[in-house]
Amino acid sequence: MSPGILAVLLLSALPASAQTALGRAKAGDVPSVGEGREVSASGAKAVAGDPAEAAKALAIAEEAVKEREVPAWTRKLLESQVIPALKQGCLFIVKVDEKDIPGSAAVYDSDLDAIKTPAIDLRSPDSRAKTLHELVHAGQDGARKNQMREDSEAEAYEVQVEYLMRGRGVLAEAEGGLVGIKSADVAAMGAVDRVLVYRYAAANVKAGRADLNDFSDASGMRFKGDKSSDVRQYFEDMAETTAGSAKNEWAMATNIGAMVGSGVRNTKEFLEKDGLTRCR
Ligand SMILES: [Zn+2]
Repeated sequence: MSPGILAVLLLSALPASAQTALGRAKAGDVPSVGEGREVSASGAKAVAGDPAEAAKALAIAEEAVKEREVPAWTRKLLESQVIPALKQGCLFIVKVDEKDIPGSAAVYDSDLDAIKTPAIDLRSPDSRAKTLHELVHAGQDGARKNQMREDSEAEAYEVQVEYLMRGRGVLAEAEGGLVGIKSADVAAMGAVDRVLVYRYAAANVKAGRADLNDFSDASGMRFKGDKSSDVRQYFEDMAETTAGSAKNEWAMATNIGAMVGSGVRNTKEFLEKDGLTRCR
């Protein structure tokens, strides 16, 4: 079947919103899923932020820093880029209907310096986690952290997952940038969750703090206090073997995986981030 016929079939089978996204993709523009660049037809950067949503995002970012709900590097990014921009009003939060963002709960638009999201629900851990994901993208932009799409997405998704794990008490920050793990069996967790667990566990053994590894996995071993080089190697191997599944997980979650087949998303695409331009 020729690509042309496939496109016609796809177009006839898809809802209008997805057709618009595909249409833009074919026109050389990129629809926003998780992160993207989306300029209006005229190219004008006419977009208005919602102060009430920005206030919610600011509350989430400030609490994440104060309560150490995200890793140290994320707290630095929030403090140096995101919080000042939200306070200054130069990072926009634009409230949209979920149906207007095909396949994604929220997106960061690095051209418009705007997060487009359905109303943020401060009582929902999931909504807060997704907001932090987009705030990480805004921080990456502010820091002009030019990255391949897959690296940019992996970072943001890991923060989202780690925030929820810290909220559940599975992960807790210890001294010296170490992160303690407290869980019975991690085998049933998501792949990204497990990569984080094994990565932190290896670092704990390396730092002589095997006491922080209070967990078990499918191996049936109890790791607390085990400081052998074998167990450290085991953690490193597990982090590596789980990385592939983890990538699939965030690719699906951020809709990259689903879009790759249609050529809409290129994970190796280099994202030129021009900073938070209204903040200058
Ligand atoms: Zn993203």
